[in-house]
Formats: sequence, structure tokens, C-alpha cells
Amino acid sequence: MSHPTDESCIFCKIVAGQLPCFKLLEDEATIAFMDINPVNPGHALAVAKGHWPTIDVIPPEILAAVARTAQRVAKAAMTTLEPNGVNLLQSNGAGAGQSVPHLHVHILPRFPGDEVRLNWTYKPGDKAEIDAICERFKAAL
Ligand code: 5GP
Ligand code: ZN
Repeated sequence: MSHPTDESCIFCKIVAGQLPCFKLLEDEATIAFMDINPVNPGHALAVAKGHWPTIDVIPPEILAAVARTAQRVAKAAMTTLEPNGVNLLQSNGAGAGQSVPHLHVHILPRFPGDEVRLNWTYKPGDKAEIDAICERFKAAL
């Protein structure tokens, strides 16, 4: 299976075997490896083999394959490390904190007192604004 690649991309180099990684698994469309700057022990990445930067451009069947790989890794993290919980995170664009523009899902085991700041508190929204954006999204689907 051939994939789009970007010769300046660090994850493309890992996929091609030009850079080392702590590899967890590999299949036709995806690879999973440990994050080299773990936020918590067990922090891992499920990565498309092809170079698609973000969710809007990756083919849906490849995204589905990345989700399957993320599930496998999350289950392995749960059974081995027995964390309190696991976050799956996927960022699109620098404004969302994406530093490597090659689609990937973080598998992030969570432990008591880890002080990872991802959780936000609920505050009720403006219903008219929610409805207006809902209508705009539906028109774009
Ligand atoms: P992003 O910020 O794009 O959502 O996540 C990129 C992730 O890739 C970061 O958590 C970062 O630690 C990880 N990363 C960056 N370079 C390398 C590398 O060369 N090898 C590995 N294994 N992970 C990397
Ligand atoms: Zn790439």
C-alpha cells in the first residue's frame, strides 16, 4: 500500500524506518509507538502511516484504522498499567496545540494527582447561539 509522504516530517521518517521509535504495533495503514516526551507513563501515539496533517483531509477509512489502533493501545495500557482513566486526544492545527502536522491520536493514561490539565468545568451555554451554530453545521454536513 503506498502512502503520501512528506520528507521533512518526523512521523513520516519513523514510518519509513529512518528514525527509531519504541514501536508497539504496525498494520497496513497505521503504526503505534511510545511518545518520546511522555506526559504520563504509558503515553503513546496511534499514527496514520500516510502523511495527512489533519482530520479534514485524511480518508475516513484511514481514520477508522487509526481509531482501531488507538483502541488496541488503550486496552493494553488499561490492562498493564491499570490507570485511573485514559484520554484519547487528537489535535488539528497549531491553534489546537498540534506540533507534528501528521495525523495522530494520543493515548494518555491518567493517574491520581497527575496534574495534567485537560478537564474543563461545565457552564451552561446560550441556547440561541448553540442553535445558530447547530444550523450552520447541519448546512455544512
Ligand atoms: P501534537 O502536539 O502534534 O499533538 O503531538 C505530537 C507528539 O509527538 C508530542 O507528544 C511529542 O512528544 C511527540 N513527538 C515529537 N517528536 C517525536 C519523535 O521523534 N518520536 C516520538 N516517539 N514522539 C515524538
Ligand atoms: Zn508525515
